[in-house]
Amino acid sequence: MSEEAVGIVDIVQSFKAFLETFQSKDGVLKYRERIHELIRMNQKSLIVDFDDLILHDRELANYVLDKPLEALNAFSQALLDIVSRENPEYARLVKRFYVRIRNPPEIFKIRGLNSDYIGKLVAIEGIVTRVTRIDAKLVKAVYRHVAEGEIHEFEYPPEGSITEKVEKPPYCLICRKPGKFDLVVEKSEFIDWQKIVVQEKPEEVPGGQIPRSIEAILTADIVDSVRPGDRVILTGVLRVQPLTGSPEARSSRSLFSFYIDVNHVEVQEKVLEEIVITREDEERIRELARDPWIREKIISSIAPGIYGYWDIKEAT
Ligand SMILES: [Zn+2]
Repeated sequence: MSEEAVGIVDIVQSFKAFLETFQSKDGVLKYRERIHELIRMNQKSLIVDFDDLILHDRELANYVLDKPLEALNAFSQALLDIVSRENPEYARLVKRFYVRIRNPPEIFKIRGLNSDYIGKLVAIEGIVTRVTRIDAKLVKAVYRHVAEGEIHEFEYPPEGSITEKVEKPPYCLICRKPGKFDLVVEKSEFIDWQKIVVQEKPEEVPGGQIPRSIEAILTADIVDSVRPGDRVILTGVLRVQPLTGSPEARSSRSLFSFYIDVNHVEVQEKVLEEIVITREDEERIRELARDPWIREKIISSIAPGIYGYWDIKEAT
């Protein structure tokens, strides 16, 4: 499906049709149910399984991979339209809804990402090594123009959201005159913003090499969803930002580094094999297992500062 062939309105309609008609194997209208749950649970995000999209409309699924920014905007609009119809009050309250894509067909190695994938939907797997604090990102700016005793307030850009750079308005959108414009913070819209760093898994690092990592941006309701040490699968759009810091970067404005604008985070459960048990541990465990007092020893080791309550401790 090319953009020329179908307008944005048609794309929103296609996503709406998917959300309203997709049936799981047991005949349940899966996403209608999930949207009802989203409203009931006061959520903002709807998780869509990529496989369902493929089953419903392969071209639409490919469009999501190929033009994720446009596709996800249209998908969110479709979701907003449905929520507005089902529960107008909730839609007005939340304003921004997100469709999050789970399980795209291919998971890339971090060192496998290259310029060919800029602007595409990619998924990577790795270990979170760094998490910043949460900041607020401006997504809708309201400016104030004070001119000849009058106050003009307007949104800029007039439509859509701020994605990369905040552009100051060239003139007042009310009186059409140039001038000084101040951001009205309390009328502008912000979303939560957090940067994380994800490093490739140890088993993916070729012998003798240093693990590589990539920055990723979490926004809105997925901030604070990971901690350092977590193994994660991130789905998002591969983007670039000007490279800073290095001597090459200072002398050239054409160098950029990759980052992932994250759409969905999946934190993987820690599997048992990851707990490494040494030979000494094993011997110690066997030794303890032979100890007839092992139960009591374990129980008394739980909250040793609290005397008694044996029945409660045993139950834990
Ligand atoms: Zn004005």
